[in-house]
Amino acid sequence: MTLPTIGIIGGGQLGRMLAMAAARLNFRTIILEPQADCPAAQVANRQIVAAYDDPAALDELAAACDVVTYEFENVPVSAAERLAASRPVYPPPKALNVAQDRLTEKRFLNGCGIETAGFRAVDSQADLAAALADFGGKGVLKTRRMGYDGKGQRVFRSADEDASGAFDAMGGVPLILESFVAFEREVSVIAARAIDGTVVCFDVAENVHRNGILHTSTLPARISDETARTAREAASKLLAALDYVGVIGMEFFVMADGGLIANEIAPRVHNSGHWTEAACVISQFEQHIRAVAGLPLGDPARHSDCVMTNLIGDDIDSLPHWLAQPRTLVHLYGKRDARPGRKMGHVTQLLR
Ligand code: AMP
Repeated sequence: MTLPTIGIIGGGQLGRMLAMAAARLNFRTIILEPQADCPAAQVANRQIVAAYDDPAALDELAAACDVVTYEFENVPVSAAERLAASRPVYPPPKALNVAQDRLTEKRFLNGCGIETAGFRAVDSQADLAAALADFGGKGVLKTRRMGYDGKGQRVFRSADEDASGAFDAMGGVPLILESFVAFEREVSVIAARAIDGTVVCFDVAENVHRNGILHTSTLPARISDETARTAREAASKLLAALDYVGVIGMEFFVMADGGLIANEIAPRVHNSGHWTEAACVISQFEQHIRAVAGLPLGDPARHSDCVMTNLIGDDIDSLPHWLAQPRTLVHLYGKRDARPGRKMGHVTQLLR
């Protein structure tokens, strides 16, 4: 009997961890990624070295796989749809469509009854001036598409700030201005939905960012049970509205009164869910593989408190320190060069 094969578009560390989880459940994996010997291909059965939108490569992937998934949200929607014509593609291409544009994303969230920051589409300097006036001169200006890890953003902290030239300085691309959210902390929930509609959520993580990049995720988050329940309910509503299959990451701002404002969704496994591989029996990676393969979802219960720390750039030099720590899981991504801002690995320390 040939073993079922899962195609993964994207060859980074998330694809690598998905491939490892897939192997443990007897699935073969094929990675579609233009960069040869990418982190995911190092642990997968095969790599198709080609652009994500290469029609011949997509057809080759579809022919060789039983189901196709992806590890990043900027997979061209047309590529996902081409694959979906002949194979199940999970999460559904619609989720990519919603998550790739911050304006579409916010409108979709609001349509599900999920609160976001106030926002305005900004397609010119005049739009920006009007939007800033609406938000009292404060706000966060972001590119609508292709932004990640705080890239493509400018913060306006007071009405005194000079916004002239700001539209052109962001590259003349479509932008969004979000109202500035004076949050108390940032949290995320990692949720999974099975083909039969069952939803399970991992515990809510509290996240700290540095220079726009996730630095730590700590469990438990310092939030009330009610705030945690609201986060899980928001994820459930969103997953149902997208007729979603797989794992999703949903980031929120927590206000002083415990209220939640959704910031971003990622239709994939998420950095703020890496702790699950050490502090739960079933990780977010296995959960995603189970969901897309049509297997029953696993128990998301957390057996330990923990803190996950990303190893970014030169942080990798502290590897000997981490390797010497008790109750600490070290996970490296197979990247040779430690460039600034590059995610090289992560560690999860179990606290109790
Ligand atoms: P993002 O790329 O949207 O996740 O933004 C990166 C980080 O910038 C977030 O994790 C927040 O710390 C901060 N940030 C983003 N949007 C806002 C906002 N509307 N108000 C205040 N801080 C924000």
